[in-house]
Amino acid sequence: MIVELISVGTEILLGNIVNTNAAYLSEKCALLGLSLYYQTVVGDNEERLYETLKTALERSDIVILSGGLGPTQDDLTKETAAKVMGKQLVEDQHSRERIEAYFKNSRSAKITDNNWKQAMVPEGCIVVDNQNGTAPGIIMEDNGKSVILLPGPPNELKPMFEHDIFPYLNQLRPEVIHSVMVKLCGVGESAVETQIRDLIDNQTNPTIATYAKTGEVHLRVTASAADEKEARRLIKPMLKELKNRFGNAIYTMDEHVTLEESVLQMLRGRELTLTTAESLTGGMLSARLTNVPGASEVFRQGYVTYSNRAKRKILDVKKSTLKDYGAVSEKTAKEMAKNGAFITGADVCVALTGVAGPSMQEDKPVGLVYIACSYNNNITVTECHFNGERAKIRESAVVKALTLLRNCILEDGAKN
Ligand code: ATP
Ligand code: MG
Repeated sequence: MIVELISVGTEILLGNIVNTNAAYLSEKCALLGLSLYYQTVVGDNEERLYETLKTALERSDIVILSGGLGPTQDDLTKETAAKVMGKQLVEDQHSRERIEAYFKNSRSAKITDNNWKQAMVPEGCIVVDNQNGTAPGIIMEDNGKSVILLPGPPNELKPMFEHDIFPYLNQLRPEVIHSVMVKLCGVGESAVETQIRDLIDNQTNPTIATYAKTGEVHLRVTASAADEKEARRLIKPMLKELKNRFGNAIYTMDEHVTLEESVLQMLRGRELTLTTAESLTGGMLSARLTNVPGASEVFRQGYVTYSNRAKRKILDVKKSTLKDYGAVSEKTAKEMAKNGAFITGADVCVALTGVAGPSMQEDKPVGLVYIACSYNNNITVTECHFNGERAKIRESAVVKALTLLRNCILEDGAKN
């Protein structure tokens, strides 16, 4: 089945926003085994959008449009798509009630007349609820073709896609697909690929695809079958095999769980509290941790000690350590972790110090990072050499810190 994407918005053409919706939707279409041959970006212009959609329908079975479903004058995707499909717009009572409820629950937003425009839908279409906004999604079917309209804001589009559009597209196929994402940390991409080379070489159903992320490798296992239950059954032995091969390096088999989330879950399960002492990452580790809802149960406070003076004054790093070994040293990282835990009374403290670049520091090379973890009166420290520019080095350091922290807790559990 051939699918095509149309991203609507003059802002995208002007380069004011990056077309992340297209990247997201393309990945999902590939996952569904749909053939995506064309992507178009078109401005908020009725004539050009009309032509674009008409052309798309001549060569594709499914056309997904994103953007331009809002209440304002320049939002004209729905009106134009209805025209192409020869449909009238009619009021959808359910959407009207949802819009009313949305504004009732919102303290800041006031309903305006043009909001009712969003309750108008092409006759005979399937209306898809928007959990995070007022514009419903729309599916129009005609002559074996489907036109799908999605709101532009990614925080509205993505949940709508996951919840309703993915299953809709899946049932259009002769077989359904089901996939599980296996996420690993602490192993490199090439090591992973070597370890599963035989599985990849012999793959039929399920298939395995590898994705390299900063400090992580994700493996997507996908099966195709008559129904989801059968697909799950096909996937199961492969997951077991991956568990045998990678063991603890697998931190989750849930697509939506991040590394920081799994680390926090692990600490929460053991009733441990955590603190951070960051230098080169300037709070990036604590930002990632506190992005996770409920982090406060585990993470109470963290330090950003960027200068030597801060390391001394706040974390009690010895003057002689800084003088003899430098701020970027194993000894400094250890003292930061040990003292951070002591001062806050946290069970675990992770400390990072290193050279993010672009220039050397204390005659030490860019990318040299020491990460220490203090837990149960043990301090583990690791020396890392990261490649890339500043942002990449800092991100790699954060992921490595989460991985080290996870390993310290797991190893301690294995010892006892
Ligand atoms: P709204 O009700 O907010 O007007 P809409 O469905 O009309 O939503 P647009 O007006 O096209 O959508 O875009 C609204 C915002 O959504 C944009 O300013 C941008 O932040 C985001 N957005 C739109 N299209 C894309 C895209 N293709 N990729 C990423 N973000 C997008
Ligand atoms: Mg808009």
